[in-house]
Amino acid sequence: MSRKKIIAGNWKMNGGLAANQALVTALKAAGDLPADVAVCVPYPYLAQAQQLLQGSAIALGAQNVSEQTAGAFTGEVSGEMLREFGCTYAIVGHSERRTLYGETDAQIARKCVRAQQAGLVPILCIGETLAEREANRTETVVAEQLDAVLSATGIAAFANIVIAYEPVWAIGTGKTATPQQAQDVHAFIRQRLAAQDANIAAQVRIQYGGSMKPGNAKELMAMPDIDGGLIGGASLVAEDFLAICKAA
Ligand code: PEP
Repeated sequence: MSRKKIIAGNWKMNGGLAANQALVTALKAAGDLPADVAVCVPYPYLAQAQQLLQGSAIALGAQNVSEQTAGAFTGEVSGEMLREFGCTYAIVGHSERRTLYGETDAQIARKCVRAQQAGLVPILCIGETLAEREANRTETVVAEQLDAVLSATGIAAFANIVIAYEPVWAIGTGKTATPQQAQDVHAFIRQRLAAQDANIAAQVRIQYGGSMKPGNAKELMAMPDIDGGLIGGASLVAEDFLAICKAA
């Protein structure tokens, strides 16, 4: 089955009104791109990005979403609010949320459910730390993270989930998984989904994330189970992000 590649930029806590305008304007100027493309921007800039992206095929995403619907949850932002500002995607369970903000597998599973109820496509991040890889626990960890969501949403929901396999040791470190290392985990993820529903497993798009750059994007995305990228640092430089999109 051929799956359209999907490239999403995760700006993290970077940007500003002037820088965002320059970056999005440059992305739009590139015209048609051979992949689905999205930018996941900080909450305060969603309105600006929504406006700037009008008339463009580039989609908008957020970097997080609340597992709550509405009410007394200071500092939280609901999926419905994100939809009002034109978001298609929300990153859920990024490793920085897991490690720095203590998000658990169960909470991340609830966030996926809520995001979908609000009409968003979760970009579900999973991946092992260096210590876990060195202890040969990569598949165990990735399976646990995936199963937590599967048991909350059911397999059918994965028709509308994008998975991002992000080895934590490769995020923002300049160390990239080799194409074969990434492919092995992507294939493992797809097989685990296929055990529940082969058709859905064949459709689901699995991005690689972790120091993807113009220089390594093509060989990573040439692997049979790598369907795009979640891009941190390189998504802040229009030229680099566009080069990765064009490599897709
Ligand atoms: C990320 O934050 O999801 C990421 C992959 O970052 P970087 O590309 O900077 O490693």
